[in-house]
This record gives sequence, C-alpha cells and structure tokens, in this order.
Amino acid sequence: MNVYDSERMGDLLRPLGYEVSDHAADADLVLLNTCHIREKAAEKVYSEIGRLKEMREDRLARGEGRMTIAVAGCVAQAEGQEIMHRAPAVDLVIGPQAYHQLPELIARTTRAKGERLAADFAPDAKFDALTADREVTGPTAFLTVQEGCDKFCTFCVVPYTRGAEWSRPVAQILDEARGLAGKGVREITLLGQNVNAYNGLAPSGEPSTLARLMYALAEIPGIARIRYTTSHPNDMGEDLIKAHRDLPQVMPYLHLPVQSGSDRILRAMNRKHTRQAYFDLVDRIRDARPDLALSGDFIVGFPGETDKDFEDTLDLVRRVGYASAFWFKYSPRPGTPAASMPKQVEDAVMDARLNALQSLLLDQQQAFKAGLVGKTLDVLFEKPGRHGSQAIGRSPYLQSVFVEDAAHLMGRIVPVRIEAVGANSLQGALISNGVMA
Ligand code: SAH
Ligand code: SF4
Repeated sequence: MNVYDSERMGDLLRPLGYEVSDHAADADLVLLNTCHIREKAAEKVYSEIGRLKEMREDRLARGEGRMTIAVAGCVAQAEGQEIMHRAPAVDLVIGPQAYHQLPELIARTTRAKGERLAADFAPDAKFDALTADREVTGPTAFLTVQEGCDKFCTFCVVPYTRGAEWSRPVAQILDEARGLAGKGVREITLLGQNVNAYNGLAPSGEPSTLARLMYALAEIPGIARIRYTTSHPNDMGEDLIKAHRDLPQVMPYLHLPVQSGSDRILRAMNRKHTRQAYFDLVDRIRDARPDLALSGDFIVGFPGETDKDFEDTLDLVRRVGYASAFWFKYSPRPGTPAASMPKQVEDAVMDARLNALQSLLLDQQQAFKAGLVGKTLDVLFEKPGRHGSQAIGRSPYLQSVFVEDAAHLMGRIVPVRIEAVGANSLQGALISNGVMA
C-alpha cells in the first residue's frame, strides 16, 4: 500500500512541477513514506533522515537549492510530534489520510519552514481529491479499495495508524481501473489492510462485496488478471471463494495470513478463529480452485509462546503447504495490548524459532517452484531482463519468470514452458510466438 500511496502522492505533486527522481541527492523534495508495523521499520526513518540531512548540506555547499524533507505514512501518523522534536531537519510531517493536502502543504513549506502536522482520518476526502488519471509504469498496477482495520489483533498498530475500516465506492474504483486499462495495464492488485472485508457502495446504493467488485472489474476490456491482498481468514466469504472457481481473471494465488498455528496463541492474538477453522477454510478454497497457491504471514515469539505453541505453527505449515510466505519476529508496538503482556519471549529463543520456521517455509517455496518445471504457464511480461532480449514476467502464482528472446512481448500474456528454478525466480522458454491475450 505504501507503493500505491507513493505513486498517488507523485500524481498529486506533478501539477506543481515535480517529477519522480531516482536519486535522493538530486531531489528538491524528498518524501519518506514510512511503515510503523515493526520497530525496525520505524527506527529506519531516523537514520534515513540523518542521511538526507547530509545530502541537503552537500547540495547547499554545491550551490543547489535547499532540499525539503517530508515524512509521510504511518510513522508520521503515530510519532509525528516526536519526529518534529527528534529530527529538526524535517520540514513536514503528514499522515496517510491527509496526503490530498500535500500540494498545499508543500507549497507552504517550501516558502517557509512550516512545522506542519497534518493527520486526520477522513479517507473519503483523500480519495475524492485524487483523479482517476494515474501515471502508469508498466502492465501491472496496485489499486487501493479499502483502508484501515477494525480487527484489533493484539500485536498490531494498523487499527491505530490507518484508522477504522473504510471502503471506496465501486464507481470510483471502476473509473480508476478503466483509466489504468486505457494506459495498458493488464493486471490489477486490489489493496486493503483487510481487503476481503471490502463493502463499498455500488451505484445502486447497496454495499458490494469484494467478489462482486471483481466481477465488475473483470468486465473492463484489457483487465486480464486480478489479485487482491491482504485477506483475513474470517472474511473469506462464499462468493469470494466461488470467484476463484468461476472468474478466470482471478489469479490462483492467495495471501492468507494465519500468524500462528497454536489455538492458545491465536486466542491471545485476538485473531478470532481456530487452527481447525483455518484448515477447513483452506480445504474449501482448494476445493474451488485446486491449483491455488497459498501464501502466509507468521509471527514467532508472541508473548507467552511456548515450544509447544511453536511446534503447532510448524505443524500447521507442514499440513497447509505454502508457495510463498513472510516470517517475522514479534515486535512490541507502543499502545498495543500485546506490548504489555507478561512472558515476552527472549530474543535468542525468537531467533532460533525464526530460523526453524524460515528453513521450513523456504523448503516449501523451493518445492513448489520445482513442481512447476516442465509445465506451461501464462506469463505476463513486465520489464526487460538483465541483458539483451531477456524479459521478466510473472506467473499466475506470482513468481518472476526470466525468458530469453521475449523483450518484444512486454505487456502481453504468453504461454511459457518452465525449465529451471532459481533462488527467487523461474527460468522459462517461449513455446511459440502465439500471443494468448
Ligand atoms: N491485515 C493483515 C496484516 C497486515 S500487517 C492480516 O491481518 O493478516 C502485515 C504483517 O505484519 C502481519 O500479517 C504480521 O505477520 C506482521 N506484523 C504485524 N504486527 C507485527 C508485530 N507487532 N510484530 C511482528 N510482526 C507483525
Ligand atoms: Fe493488524 Fe491485520 Fe489484525 Fe487488522 S487484521 S489488526 S491489520 S494484523
């Protein structure tokens, strides 16, 4: 979502004469779009500000204009006052629900250093201020449909930084998607902190489900692939599962975080489902779409997690089988209930658990990819490869696929025979020049 937000902030600043630069040192304005989900991400902001401050001084020494430094995103939301206090080099702090005010605030800040803290919770105002006309950078695009979260998992800051759950209206999303398709976008990834809780208003005035929204998106000429992330297991409705079976545009890949395989820990996390409910759900989804690849998020070392609890997580991973995953050490976040729970797990124990989980998940990831060798998959070509006529695309299961002699196929979906597996990718070959879509 931060990638999407950054692109939209770029769109908002373009009318003021700004363009995206690849090098911070050359920039008149640097906007750090920050993440507060774990401590490490939040702390990185301060070291980045230090680096930018030096760049600003170098620029001034070279006689170039003063660099404006702005901090956006969830760290800005959660620690705005502290940033202003701890990092006087920062000119502007702006929360994730206020970036429609960016043009005005930047204009003011560049005239005079304005200690501005813009942070309100009115996502409708933000989205109303954005046009459907976006700059696109290739055949794939993110599209935010839902923001915020009401679930209050005990470890998570999202409900505090992104605010309450809110869904964009259907018509606004379809307009944005049509604009993207008109500029050559073939694959859209619908975004939300809790995307499958989507309930935006349809033109009829009735709330729509995510599945219904996807059926409407699938009607747009050019949109060949639809993905969505991140889903909560409790919001996987029957119609969404059916869409995986019936709607060819919905890719057979689902990020469905479970966090832990222990019922005791799931309860302490306030996830509101059991491990058995997750198994049953996975069975139902795989019944609807047998080739669906699953991905997940896992936290090790949640307060009170015992060796037995962790074993339950490994057992869940073995039983479900993931094509891809993200694994994290529990990070206590200020203001969340888990941060003050007793029996915080020692760092060394967390490291050992993280290593064990990582090795299991990486083995599963490699095995999934190895199982694709010899198969023919549709690949959407996104960007040039490292050399000559090589091109890089995505499989339906989201792996990068490197293919020789495919540079002319950018933006197209073409059958590719998978020949070999790399650490983070697949190697494939064109089977014909036939272009499928
Ligand atoms: N809404 C999504 C998750 C959003 S946060 C869901 O409910 O699944 C993305 C991931 O960050 C989470 O799935 C979780 O694995 C991880 N995460 C969130 N808070 C964390 C914390 N305090 N410590 C470690 N990992 C955390
Ligand atoms: Fe955080 Fe996801 Fe839980 Fe919401 S559902 S509180 S975003 S982990």
